[in-house]
Amino acid sequence: MPPQGGHPQGAGAPPILQVAVPRPLQEALDYRPPPGAWPAEPVGCRVEVPLGRSRAVGIVVAVRHSSDLPASRLRAASAWVDEQPLLDTELLETLTWAARYYRYPLGTALATALPGPLRQGRPARRAVAWWRLDARLHEDDRAVRRAPRQAELRRRLLASGGAAPYALLVAEQPAWQRAGRLLEQAGLLHREYHPAQAEGSADRTPRPGPELDADQQQALECMLAADGYAAFLLEGVTGSGKTEVYLQTAARALAAGRQVLILVPEIGLAPQFLERLRERLSGSVVVLHSGLSGTDRAEAWLAARDGDAAVILGTRSAIFTPLPRPGLIVVDEEHDPSLAQQDGFRYSARDLAVLRARTLDVPVVLGSATPSLESLHNARGARYTHLRLPHRAGLARAPSVQLVDIRSRRLVGGISAPLQEAVRRHLDAGSQVLLFLNRRGYAPVLICHACGWVAGCHRCDARLTYHRSRAQLRCHHCGHTARVPAACPECGEADLRPLGPGTERLEEALAELFPGVGQLRIDRDTTRRRGALEAQLAAAHRGDAQLLIGTQMLAKGHHLPAVTLVAVIDVDQGLFGADFRATERLAQLVVQVAGRAGRGEQPGEVLLQTRHPEHPMLRTLLERGYPAFAEAHLAERQAAGLPPYAALALLRAESVHADAPYLFLESAAQYGRSRLGKGGGVELLGPVPAPMERREGRHRAQLMVRAERRIDLQRFLVAWSGGLGSLEGARQVRWSLDVDPVEM
Ligand code: ADP
Ligand code: ZN
Ligand code: ZN
Repeated sequence: MPPQGGHPQGAGAPPILQVAVPRPLQEALDYRPPPGAWPAEPVGCRVEVPLGRSRAVGIVVAVRHSSDLPASRLRAASAWVDEQPLLDTELLETLTWAARYYRYPLGTALATALPGPLRQGRPARRAVAWWRLDARLHEDDRAVRRAPRQAELRRRLLASGGAAPYALLVAEQPAWQRAGRLLEQAGLLHREYHPAQAEGSADRTPRPGPELDADQQQALECMLAADGYAAFLLEGVTGSGKTEVYLQTAARALAAGRQVLILVPEIGLAPQFLERLRERLSGSVVVLHSGLSGTDRAEAWLAARDGDAAVILGTRSAIFTPLPRPGLIVVDEEHDPSLAQQDGFRYSARDLAVLRARTLDVPVVLGSATPSLESLHNARGARYTHLRLPHRAGLARAPSVQLVDIRSRRLVGGISAPLQEAVRRHLDAGSQVLLFLNRRGYAPVLICHACGWVAGCHRCDARLTYHRSRAQLRCHHCGHTARVPAACPECGEADLRPLGPGTERLEEALAELFPGVGQLRIDRDTTRRRGALEAQLAAAHRGDAQLLIGTQMLAKGHHLPAVTLVAVIDVDQGLFGADFRATERLAQLVVQVAGRAGRGEQPGEVLLQTRHPEHPMLRTLLERGYPAFAEAHLAERQAAGLPPYAALALLRAESVHADAPYLFLESAAQYGRSRLGKGGGVELLGPVPAPMERREGRHRAQLMVRAERRIDLQRFLVAWSGGLGSLEGARQVRWSLDVDPVEM
């Protein structure tokens, strides 16, 4: 039992704190308690500790009465950071579980879960700085008569009763920052901290939503009937009204005084979702994603922890938001791989959402037009209740989807004649057209027409993309850039030509084919600046341009009602991927992109350009739809013994030396075999080269661990992963372990 209040008195040795520190250590470390009063509940509190020759902020995960270390070697923690636990029991348990499941050091996992300022030990107080005029300056302006800015700031403060929030003032007039600092130094202005207010809801009356159709109503009733934990897979084509169902379920939870956590895969989707939440739900809404400053994230996180935020909308890391009054968890676009973190602490926010819902005993709903095979499998196994919205809501109609066989056609910047005609038709009708091409730059290849030389990256097994606007060759895998050579480095001829289309080239071709028609290109190159993506999406939405060009950024849930034609310039890109999930991803992408067409009252048309019009996946998808595709593909996965019919983990290693990854992975495999009990149900496959064997000058290889049953995989990983770091060759490579990898 943890000691309550004050220093525990009485029997035995003083208690020992087990502290998870932000270092890659397997275990929490033992410390003697810091001097001073104890928090009422120490577990979950931050504490400052000495670590080696530096200091760190750790989190108390347990209080013990003995340590394996001799008392003489125990160090004392330096100070408590919190008076109350920052992490409540549930969140700490969830994180502990996740760290164990994903085989990641607890201390670093905890640190990843916290917004930066809290991780660094900043007080867990939601405070906003204000400036207040000193009484002397309030009375008369003598002190500032010679300083116009200071006088201006004084007048401004007087106008709002002598004090105002610092951030507000600086936003109004940046020059006041310096003026104010000078006044502070003179003691004529004081900085005060006031508790932040969660955005109020009193002045908002939620707008009622449309009347639900029969399918929506049924889904809603099914979810509202849940008492405690229940998992739902809400499968509905784009525009079928899934969001309406979330909103009405959420409204019920809010009315009962509960909090709602909503996860979306992309920052880009947050603003449009946010607007709808604010319009339709009462209660304050906070947003949590990596595009925000650390301070803003900490503020939102704490508002959730204090129970002041009723709705929390965020990207994957928001799954680690405290929910003292939990009511509902929603995961939108649950199939999207961005919901999984793919470096450092690798976790699936979707899977953790289901886990948390179970721990918190609340319903969770996973929504998608194209559910992941994992979730479909869970629905078949009755672990999730499968709800379907087969029709588009309101007046919108399903689009017609057709293949355009481009095998023997001339392409202009990637565009075939039938596609060109279709674009013309839709433009003439005054609609928007979306052209989708998942390749930024001008051309993916620069080739010498005389000898066949191709510009490649010297650090990766990849070709360099030609960016014409900057006259540059660029590697999209390592960032290496080079000038475009004047002549072929191989044969000296000056006949270098771009091959294949990129978004820049598409833009150029469209400008020639449809002169005078406004264009908007949305890809990583045009959205680098903070806020640029939001601005461009808003412009697309307003209809500023009739032609929209986009990479996969534009494929996701954006609602663009004026788009009636969607074209995929090159479907084949995804047909033959090395990753066993490539086909699933392509099918999802095609259906998602198609979902951008005709969401308003105009019927939509979708054209897919391909050189493989007979490909079985495309045929099934087009003739029988995503559910039939998924059915067929699940059967293939089962036959191949792949997820969701097996659990995988991937041990990756890379090094500048070609042999090193193999030496390490071989010894890892050998060590693994020695740890395998009889009938352990686990197979070790490899090592094999990674799909891109060389990247950023490093050679990469991987070892796959496969088990029919998740529990066998977990048991094996527990026995195996702890020893990997001390294996022969471990120090010669960079290695990482990925449990339930979403990318091979
Ligand atoms: P999804 O989340 O499945 O893409 P949305 O909930 O965003 O679908 O709905 C798509 C559009 O249809 C939205 O503009 C929404 O307001 C509208 N809509 C949803 N349900 C209904 C309904 N029952 N009646 C009329 N319009 C609806
Ligand atoms: Zn050449
Ligand atoms: Zn490269």
